[in-house]
Amino acid sequence: MKKLYLTTAQLKSEMDRCLYCAEKPCMKACPANCSPADFITTAKEDTDEAYRKAATIILKANPLGQMCGLTCPDQFCMKACSRQHLDVPIKIPAVQATILEKARSLGALEPPIKVAPNNKNVAVVGAGPAGLAAAAVLARKGYSVTVFEGADKVGGAAKLIPDARLPYEIIEKDWEYIKTFGDITWQMNHRIANPVDLLKDGYDGVIVAIGEPHSAKMGIPGEKLAVSFMDYLAAPEKFKTNGNIAVLGGGAVAVDCAVTARDNGAEFVEMFVRRRIPDMKLTMEERKWLLDKMVDITSMTRVKKIEKINDTYTLHTCKTQFNGAKLEDIPETTIKRPGFAHVIMAVGSIADPKTEAEKVLYAGDCSHGGSTIVEAVASGKNAANELHAAITGEIEEAVCPISRNVTYKAKSCTVIEGVEKDESAS
Ligand code: SF4
Repeated sequence: MKKLYLTTAQLKSEMDRCLYCAEKPCMKACPANCSPADFITTAKEDTDEAYRKAATIILKANPLGQMCGLTCPDQFCMKACSRQHLDVPIKIPAVQATILEKARSLGALEPPIKVAPNNKNVAVVGAGPAGLAAAAVLARKGYSVTVFEGADKVGGAAKLIPDARLPYEIIEKDWEYIKTFGDITWQMNHRIANPVDLLKDGYDGVIVAIGEPHSAKMGIPGEKLAVSFMDYLAAPEKFKTNGNIAVLGGGAVAVDCAVTARDNGAEFVEMFVRRRIPDMKLTMEERKWLLDKMVDITSMTRVKKIEKINDTYTLHTCKTQFNGAKLEDIPETTIKRPGFAHVIMAVGSIADPKTEAEKVLYAGDCSHGGSTIVEAVASGKNAANELHAAITGEIEEAVCPISRNVTYKAKSCTVIEGVEKDESAS
């Protein structure tokens, strides 16, 4: 199992390398506007109180700080860290996760300062990362918040991240802290058919953060025979096998499926990716993970058909080539690849259509496509601030998520540059 936290010596060593940059490039690069410069400076005093204070700094900016510490890729704060000009960037996400774990192990964290109720009710639909962040921000502004979640647990798509990277207990730890933010009611197992109807029920505003609940399709014959990544990651034990597994897709979720399949007993796991291996949008850690787990990658290959023969699945594949920027099949390269116990499809996910209405705002993956947890947190914070502005007229500075492909309007969570589909995922 991957080590989740730094040792005491590693934590100290990482914090000692911080240059305490006045410009705080690490904070500017954080979608959630969390300041590593500040929480490292605070924690460096190395007392129980210092760790608690550092934890408060993290959670004030990012209520899902521990989840993000364990899952943030190296493309945000680490990419901006000045230390890389001397040797290597500070492992900021790991430092953040370790500080929070340490502070929480010391006992209850300092609760946020309670604000007076503003006598307004808002609803948040969806208790994934964006919904949780939105609920936290609104509660801290004095709203009475009701969170409606269709499942029996919070976490949304974050629940699908394998335990080796994000144990569910960490989602619960961040959630427990959010519960202390103010007046929040949690309505679990409660689906909302039409969020606009909540306005008629007396809510002053609604934030919809329901993610992308449907797996994207490939449009190939036999794809119904494949297991969607959502079904697989939600209950991998149902698909336990010591046989061979095929994973269709090359993004981070496909990596989660491949690694989970190996941990779930598969003897051999092969990822089928249309593009080149360097085109796969993966972090160094994800690439290392695939190597450690001895997952095979068959690149420049398109799966054209899936069929079931006896008790196993056969893939019909062909090689691909670039014609300029366009990817095309190479004629007469189709072969059959028999003998897979399961085929897992991980080529993306799709949101439900939106119902537009004033004071009904969308946030997270259902608004701007699949993203990291920290980007969803930023989107949830922005939507909460925007809703607050719509209800009260008080404008606040928006967090500006720095995302691979998403640019936000100031004071809005509306995408103004399109979400580029992650083609490495297919
Ligand atoms: S950029 Fe890196 S070195 Fe500078 S303050 Fe942030 S964490 Fe420290």
